[in-house]
Amino acid sequence: MTGGLVHGSGTETSRRSVAGLVERTRSGDPRAIGRLISLVENDAPALREIAAALAPHVGNAQVIGITGAPGVGKSTCTSALVTAYRRSGARVGVLAVDPSSPFSGGALLGDRVRMQDHATDPDVFIRSMATRGHLGGLAAATPQAVRVLDAAGCSVVLVETVGVGQSEVEIAGLADTTLVLLAPGMGDAVQVAKAGLLEVGDVYVVNKADRDGAERLSRDLRHMLGLGERSEGDWMPPIVRTVATSGDGIDALVDAIAAHRAHLRDTGELDVRRARRIREEIAALALADLRRRLDDLPRDRRLDTLVERVIAGELDPYRAADELVAELADHNTDDNTLSQVRCT
Ligand code: GDP
Repeated sequence: MTGGLVHGSGTETSRRSVAGLVERTRSGDPRAIGRLISLVENDAPALREIAAALAPHVGNAQVIGITGAPGVGKSTCTSALVTAYRRSGARVGVLAVDPSSPFSGGALLGDRVRMQDHATDPDVFIRSMATRGHLGGLAAATPQAVRVLDAAGCSVVLVETVGVGQSEVEIAGLADTTLVLLAPGMGDAVQVAKAGLLEVGDVYVVNKADRDGAERLSRDLRHMLGLGERSEGDWMPPIVRTVATSGDGIDALVDAIAAHRAHLRDTGELDVRRARRIREEIAALALADLRRRLDDLPRDRRLDTLVERVIAGELDPYRAADELVAELADHNTDDNTLSQVRCT
């Protein structure tokens, strides 16, 4: 198995070519950006070198997550936001993440019709991403791709989830500001609550406001949000109504995102969120590496042996788990990734 945390991958050649790619990425070369994202997406052996080479050039991008059920208008809204941010001169990156798909979008630019408006703009980078099978999954692959776009000088990175389910909540953890989109006729506020989306939204967008029911959906949503516990000074997520197809309400949405960002900065929450994000990323990589070590253990030292001892009454499962963890920590000590990690 070739994992992302590969040992001894640092040949001089690959180090040089990674440095070259990062250099070209920083100058906004779309081919280099596409190549780097492919590399981080596919768990290429160069992943570690890429991460190291990117590290000094990241941390400037504002990351905006866009989530919601299929069909509510996420990609139309993303496209409208790109237009709005481009007007202010920002270089913009878009990642359309499909956690359920094993297929990568491949092309950097516009396999998706609604993004075609931006296909010829040299300061817009659009990329779809598949993360299934990535070492550490969505939680590890997406931040790497965000870093590539960040290093490419994108001051705004929009991360849109294409799939459904728990991953939406996962994606929300990756963003500075998370937009939850709804549309009339596509699920009510109760369903939003059930999907766990009342906790993750920083800004709620009632899209398709040109349709009947938008008013009512906004009202119900406001009511549901009002039921949540908040302390004095906490952010109260605003509800913005948009018609993404015409661009109506998009300026108000941009203002709401800016207000949330100002709140994050003023309260110190921006740093807290970023630290939390990195913590989760490290944990996801560490757990994935432990998993890989487990799979790589030689036959005679595998879990099977422990199972036999538990069945024979020589060990209880807790002691067996302790032994396994100790074994995994010792395994591959030439790989310095996890020498400090202990499962407690
Ligand atoms: P996604 O699956 O959430 O990305 O949704 P899309 O952006 O693909 O939009 C789904 C459909 O809704 C498309 O046919 C859009 O043209 C349409 N749509 C998006 N926004 C609006 C809107 O504000 N009003 C109306 N009437 N249709 C919209």
